[in-house]
Amino acid sequence: MPSLNHPTESLVDLYSDTKSRPSRGMREAMANAVVGDEQHFEDPTVTALVGRCASLLGHEDAIFLPSGTMANEIAVLVHCQPGDEIIAHATSHLLNFEGGAPAALAGVMTRSVDGALGMFDADTLSAAIRPQARHLPVSRLVSIEQTTNLGGGAVWPLDTLADISVVARDAGMAVHVDGARLMNAAVASGTSPAAYGALCDTLYLDFTKGLGAPFGAVLAGSRETIQHAWRWKQRLGGSMRQAGIMAAACVYALDHNVERLADDHRNAAMLASELAGIGGIKIEPVHTNMVYLDVSATGMSASAFNDALTPFSIRMSVQGPARLRAVLHLDVDIVAIEKVKVAVASVVSRR
Ligand SMILES: *Cc1c(COP(=O)(O)O)cnc(C)c1O
Repeated sequence: MPSLNHPTESLVDLYSDTKSRPSRGMREAMANAVVGDEQHFEDPTVTALVGRCASLLGHEDAIFLPSGTMANEIAVLVHCQPGDEIIAHATSHLLNFEGGAPAALAGVMTRSVDGALGMFDADTLSAAIRPQARHLPVSRLVSIEQTTNLGGGAVWPLDTLADISVVARDAGMAVHVDGARLMNAAVASGTSPAAYGALCDTLYLDFTKGLGAPFGAVLAGSRETIQHAWRWKQRLGGSMRQAGIMAAACVYALDHNVERLADDHRNAAMLASELAGIGGIKIEPVHTNMVYLDVSATGMSASAFNDALTPFSIRMSVQGPARLRAVLHLDVDIVAIEKVKVAVASVVSRR
């Protein structure tokens, strides 16, 4: 059988779970999808996907979008007016990796807050909310990442989110959950996605991370919010046609790739414990599918270390001067983990 994934078949790609590739079964589901004109609600596969996601996430309605970035930005656009302020963690994707879109598209101010593991508590939020005064921007939206990405893949406890939600609602703010890895959080904590959904106004699921689809995110919210989101989707050019081909991959992911996220979490823990035994490598606590390495004791920079892994056909991502991230996903198995351990030990011993 010819390879589906030329030319990087042998690469152990720990750069991100975005590097997971659609499996043969997923591709078959895509090929067989029943399709129609998505932007006229005539695509039955998209309709099935959004209906399923709305109930999974505990909201009235949902909308299919090309990417998590568009889901975050549409959330900002539906909740905020130009000049409003959004509050998010200093390490968040929304503030760091979306090309300045909150400013460029929505004309909003951003206010970053700090806290361990990419999280913050209700008191921190409280302190960041502006008093109401004509001179000040209006604090309008708080966005949290479940799981935290640069925070180490940590899972926000439901209690913390509930407290955040109360503070935000008292202040007249909306709550958005950036659920790029929401299902990792749900699987790791045993909490239903709908329980997270009950504490926010909008949240989305990304299908291109650990869920292994090539495309897609679904944003959920009230019927009114999603209607408003449709206008922005149209304006941004995110309205589609025979998108059922893509939605079929997402449906397949919900059917086949959710429970197995526990394998990625187990593999992350295994990789962490293997690497922790190598002198010079410091490992941050593992929460879900991410392993963060501190290589400062080796005297190498993170980028030199990553380059030294290249001849072993291994790639991580550089997340700081001496900080590397390895993300586990469905294309990384136990054999690959052993390969990584051997390579890291070899790089350390040859430095
Ligand atoms: C990847 C990611 C996004 C963006 O998702 P895309 O589908 O790549 O646009 C948003 N937030 C977080 C935390 C992410 O990791």
